[in-house]
This record gives sequence, C-alpha cells and structure tokens, in this order.
Amino acid sequence: MIATPDVLVVGLGPAGSRAAARAAKAGLSVLAIDRRAAPGTPVQCAEFVPALLDQDVAGMAAVSRQRITRMLTAIEDGPAAETPDFPGRMLDRAGFDALLVARAEEQGATCRFATAVASVGPDGGVTLADATVLRPRVLIGADGPRSRVGAAIGAVNRDLVETRQIRVALPRAHDATDIFLGAAYPGGYGWLFPSADVANLGLGVVASARAVLKPRLIALHDRLAEQGRVGRAVLGHTGGAIPVGGRLAASGWLGAVPVLLAGDAAGLAHPVTGAGIAAAVHSGTLAGAAAAAWLGGEGGAAAEYEEELADLYDAAFARALDRRRRLLDRHAAGEAPDAAMQRAGWIGFPEYWGRSP
Ligand SMILES: Cc1cc2nc3c(=O)[nH]c(=O)nc-3n(C[C@H](O)[C@H](O)[C@H](O)COP(=O)(O)OP(=O)(O)OC[C@H]3O[C@@H](n4cnc5c(N)ncnc54)[C@H](O)[C@@H]3O)c2cc1C
Repeated sequence: MIATPDVLVVGLGPAGSRAAARAAKAGLSVLAIDRRAAPGTPVQCAEFVPALLDQDVAGMAAVSRQRITRMLTAIEDGPAAETPDFPGRMLDRAGFDALLVARAEEQGATCRFATAVASVGPDGGVTLADATVLRPRVLIGADGPRSRVGAAIGAVNRDLVETRQIRVALPRAHDATDIFLGAAYPGGYGWLFPSADVANLGLGVVASARAVLKPRLIALHDRLAEQGRVGRAVLGHTGGAIPVGGRLAASGWLGAVPVLLAGDAAGLAHPVTGAGIAAAVHSGTLAGAAAAAWLGGEGGAAAEYEEELADLYDAAFARALDRRRRLLDRHAAGEAPDAAMQRAGWIGFPEYWGRSP
C-alpha cells in the first residue's frame, strides 16, 4: 500500500479504473481501492453499452456476450415500436470491469480490492476501514451513486432511481433491447436485455416508489413468461441505485487537496435511460488527465475538467431532465401520463428529440 500516493482513486468501477490508468500513464504514483472483493462483482447492471464505446476501449469483443442492433419500446402493453439503428453490445459486466482494472495495472497503478473507505476528512485524509489513513496529493472519487468522496465536498446525488433486476432464461436468440413504459413505472421503466441464452429483466422507479418494484417486476415477468419470451425460473437477483438528477459540481477542495469526481459519483448517468457506463469511462479518463495536469502545475486543471464535462453532457442532460420532470409532474398530479407524454419522454421516439412539448 502506498501511504502517500500522488493520486488516490476511490472506486474501481469503470470510472475509477480509467482515472487510475490515465494518471498512472502520466507517470504518477496511483493507488486505486475498492471495497468489493473482486472487480465488478456482484454485478449491478443491465449490461448494455453503445457500440461507440469500442472506440474508447480496445478488446470489447472479449467481454461482450452478444450484439444489439435495435431497440423495441412498448407503451402500456401495446405493440412495440422499433428504433432500428441502435447498435450496441451486451457486456459481461464483471469481465468488463476486470479488463479495465487490468489495463490500469498495466499502466502502473496499484489496484487493491476488499479495501473500503470509512471516512474522508476535511483535510483530505482518507481513513480506511482498517484505520489506515492515506494522504494523497489528489483525490479522485469514483465511488458510485452514494459517493463518500462526493459527500465530503458537498456533491450529493439527491435524485435516485431504485432498481430491481432478475436473470431469466431466454428461449430464443434476440437482437434488441426491449423497453416497457407505463404508468406502473413512475420515474423509470422496465427492460428486457438479451444476453445470449439468458436475459436481464428489470425495473427502475423513482426512489419514493421503491415499494412497487417487487410486485411490478413479478407482474412483468409473469406476462413475458406467459408469452413464452422468457423462462419462469429466476436465475439471479440484483439491483442498485442510479443517479438521475444530472451532473454535479465535480471538483472541490479538502484542505490543500484537490478533489475530482467521475462517473456516477459526479451524477453522470443519463437522467432518462440511466445509462452510465460510457460516461464513467469518459469522465474517468478526463479526471485522470486532470489530476496529472494539476500535479504538473496547471492550476486551472479542475476548472477545465468541469468545462469538459459540461460540454459533453449538459445539453443532453438538460433535455432528459426536462422530459423526466414532465412525466413526474403528471404522476405527482395523480394522473397517469398518456401515450403521447410517454413518447415525448423516451429516447426511442422522435417526439423526445423535438422541441419541448
Ligand atoms: C440495475 C442497474 C442496471 C444498469 N444498467 C446499465 C446499462 O445497461 N448500461 C449502462 O450504461 N449503465 C447501466 N447502469 C448504470 C451503470 O451501472 C453505472 O452508471 C456505472 O456503473 C457507473 O460507473 P462508476 O465507475 O461511476 O461507478 P460503479 O460502477 O458503481 O463503481 C463504483 C465503485 O466504488 C466502490 N465503492 C463505493 N463506495 C466505496 C467505499 N466507501 N470504499 C471503497 N470503494 C467503494 C464500489 O464497490 C464500486 O465498485 C445500471 C445501473 C443499475 C443499478
């Protein structure tokens, strides 16, 4: 363990691994830690990534279970509308996270698992569960939606979607991600994502409605099993929170220590789809570069990092937040959003991309 690394990265999901790799590549001493026992496990993910991610991560085929070519979106059990040009991959998410950790180690980063951060002090000292105190020169928080590092600089994801997902058998090969919209899923949606001979079937809803997750996932599973689309047996369970409130201020100070946030810790999951893997990869890389720039004497590196994130995400997130708020307002008024509103609130429909309804 390096007691005083140049850069301490908390979290070894995609954001943390990329940050660690980029900072180590610049010649810095990097320690990256994660409370999990092994990369990416247990998997808390539906495992879809856009095909464009191939441009940023070499070797994706080795951690991919199948290709996706299109998206099918059904509103209130109606017929599915097809979005034909929707290329992507279904990941082996644990394998993907392990690949990114291996890449960080190749660059010279030290990656430690089963190493939890217990607290982050106002002077930038990071106390581990075993009471070791680390004093990095730069601290990167890539510790997910409920980031302790983020909380220490006042950046907290307040708007979360809660999810519940099961793994089921898939009797027939399928090349589409299926999305289920409806009044039963306030602030979220249902999904069936194929992964070769199995599928991830899940639901997300606004955190205040989390009590409906279990019965509504059972109902969706029953319906799809009756249609012969998925098996009856539940092969596994997962879940987790997704930040959907938009980008947080991703930099700050703890005493003399600059702090950068990346991935979910910086609120970079898409407010409508909840997708956050690609943003974690991109923002992690940028955070690692910003840490290197700052230690190289560029005093404006953190501000530049914030600007880069704003350029990448603000326009898309502003649209998504607007669409999401309209749907939630309708729920709050005690009315079910009609089909037109659902269409305007989902990326698969042209109405989403038009002017605000
Ligand atoms: C059910 C579900 C389905 C999803 N499906 C998709 C999808 O299909 N496609 C997509 O793009 N996105 C999806 N997402 C979102 C995606 O998983 C996240 O956006 C992505 O993992 C963010 O990466 P990250 O590196 O920022 O955070 P994470 O992957 O969450 O990594 C954070 C790491 O920090 C560690 N950590 C946390 N606290 C501490 C601590 N105190 N000490 C040490 N380590 C700590 C955690 O163990 C974890 O490994 C889904 C999310 C959920 C919950």
